[in-house]
Amino acid sequence: LEEQLRKSDTLNVVGELAAGIAHEIRNPMTALKGFIQLLEGSVKDDFSMYFNVITSELSRIESIITEFLILARPQAIKYLKIEIGKIMKETIDLLNAQAILVNVQMKLSLEKDLPLIYCEPNQLKQVFINVLKNAIEVMTKGGQIDVQIKRKDERHIVVSIIDRGTGISEDKIKRLGQPFYTTKERGTGLGLMVSYKIIEEHRGIVDVESEEGKGTTFHITLPINQ
Ligand code: ADP
Ligand code: MG
Repeated sequence: LEEQLRKSDTLNVVGELAAGIAHEIRNPMTALKGFIQLLEGSVKDDFSMYFNVITSELSRIESIITEFLILARPQAIKYLKIEIGKIMKETIDLLNAQAILVNVQMKLSLEKDLPLIYCEPNQLKQVFINVLKNAIEVMTKGGQIDVQIKRKDERHIVVSIIDRGTGISEDKIKRLGQPFYTTKERGTGLGLMVSYKIIEEHRGIVDVESEEGKGTTFHITLPINQ
């Protein structure tokens, strides 16, 4: 027990330190971004390419920091009994503009009389955002993403996010959720790690089914009660 306590103390210190560093990086980043935008207006056109690179690299640092903060921040976590369909609707609304741009529709089907779920709504929303964003990003030819929420058994519900994108090969499925694992040029490889951690904290499970060239389904099973 003592060993366990010591371990969790260390984890807290590391978490606070990480969150602190992330904040410290974020503040000067905001200043940098502002001044670079100002500069851009007053510099010769020949340099515009450099500004594109600077801006895109800065926003990459920003996404890494943002995802890292979610993970590291020792938040006061407040679990509530809530309607999970509502969180999913809000998430879909949030991502709709991005989806429409690439001809993707998201269709939500909710089973009738779903129970309330004991969860941290902001964290769960973060998971839905991460998984849905990935789904949109692999649907390069457009099409429909199906989101289904059903009761699994007496004590669980399951949220399935079904895309018809590139799919994932079997050997790569194992790498999902590893920090910094990404196949995208501008990816952070942190979205799934954060999501898996949140689901684990909710005592839930993530299952991935995938077929290359056909698409991928993420099944997120969550307990109804604490
Ligand atoms: P990122 O999106 O920044 O790459 P993620 O942790 O969200 O990081 O995802 C890690 C990797 O998992 C992605 O780069 C991609 O290769 C793979 N992946 C995740 N979701 C899907 C999906 N729906 N279809 C195909 N590949 C996926
Ligand atoms: Mg992602």
